[in-house]
Amino acid sequence: MEHILNYLRTHRRQHLAQLFELTRFPSVSTAAEHVEDVARCARFLADHLQSLGLTRVEVMPTPGHPIVYAEWLEASNAPTILIYGHYDVQPPEPLELWNSPPFEPQIREGEIYARGIADDKGQFFAYVKAMEAYFTEKGALPINVKLLIEGEEEIGSENLHAFVQEHRALLNADAILLSDTSMFAPGLPTICYGTRGLVHCQIDLETAATDLHSGAFGGFAPNPIHILAEMIAALKDKDGRITIPDFYEDVAELTPKEQAQFAALPYDEEALKREIGMEEFIGETGFSTLEKRWARPALDVNGILGGFTGTGTKTVIPAKAMAKFTIRLVPYQDPEKVFNAAKAYLEQLAPAAAKVSVTGGVGGSAYLTPLEHPILPLIAKALQQAYHQEPVFTRTGGTIGVLSTFSEALHLPIIMVGMAQPNDNAHAPNEHLTEELFYQGAEAAAYLLHELKTWKPA
Ligand SMILES: [Zn+2]
Repeated sequence: MEHILNYLRTHRRQHLAQLFELTRFPSVSTAAEHVEDVARCARFLADHLQSLGLTRVEVMPTPGHPIVYAEWLEASNAPTILIYGHYDVQPPEPLELWNSPPFEPQIREGEIYARGIADDKGQFFAYVKAMEAYFTEKGALPINVKLLIEGEEEIGSENLHAFVQEHRALLNADAILLSDTSMFAPGLPTICYGTRGLVHCQIDLETAATDLHSGAFGGFAPNPIHILAEMIAALKDKDGRITIPDFYEDVAELTPKEQAQFAALPYDEEALKREIGMEEFIGETGFSTLEKRWARPALDVNGILGGFTGTGTKTVIPAKAMAKFTIRLVPYQDPEKVFNAAKAYLEQLAPAAAKVSVTGGVGGSAYLTPLEHPILPLIAKALQQAYHQEPVFTRTGGTIGVLSTFSEALHLPIIMVGMAQPNDNAHAPNEHLTEELFYQGAEAAAYLLHELKTWKPA
């Protein structure tokens, strides 16, 4: 490792300059006017990977933006790791809120400011630099590597699912490493091993063919807003539990070890409340906030529509009402099953006075790499050496679509290693990455390649 670390430390300026070059491409995947920039960024990346010694480097077309693929498979008796990243970025607007131009990277007080620097260019590029160190110093990598850098993550990875299904053999590996998340606290190495899933629903109620006069019909005409409010209220009980029948049947309960790990995290609940201007947190009785955020399901109404909401008054009994809600799922809930159960339950809750329609569907499955998976201690050991700190294990409350794509098609353990600091303004103006974290990220990637050599996948 000494040669590798030495190489990385003596080449920091070159690596930073290359990262700057990569972030100068305005690879905004959502903007039609940037299609060429996205393609040029993919080409630049592929040429760079080719020059380092990776084999089978390809810019692979999709119906949208291309995927950059590269591999090196010459380590016999060593595992194969698929490394995922994305070279596309969020739009930089509103431009007037940036203190320096988003595609002209600049360092101020140890922070590199540029669109995409944290999400995700500065993270996946750390692996690229670690590989460069091995190729230069040893002429080989310690393990087999497949790199998949997509160009559509910021627009929902529209074509990734079909691509992964179609290239299952090409992408087959023993595990997936993904660095597109943040550390739990600044400088704190963080292994994220689980996500929540998502189901979305819309309820439409209709009680009459037309809106009615509340004087002529008030007192005996059913009101769809009242009915909708009662139905929504019935979705949770007073302990904050979701009342859809059998809803908790497949929920993976937290193990005592996980509970202890969550409780030991440097988390300041009062600071969070102040930050978002909230008096009190609510939710399912018997669980801590982090448990509720990461490992318990949640149901939230996102919007409600009905009746008269203009200024003044209108004596109306509306004919229709509508609400949208989402359910966050945890391992091992099946989104399809949950949606069907929610739909059946709402249809049953609706009184005969209302015509009800429940539409919606699956937004993604939850994902979990069990904590006892043998790859995790190796990853922890690698991060410990790179950051000189014991890493923490976290989950995320969000839904990461690419995870379900990978886990459904490839059935591999997926581990997320956050190399960016929290509050990096990803998706917002003045996105930044601590310069030091980029160098540490490259060293962490080097340690990961090194440690995973000893892994013997079952
Ligand atoms: Zn990202």
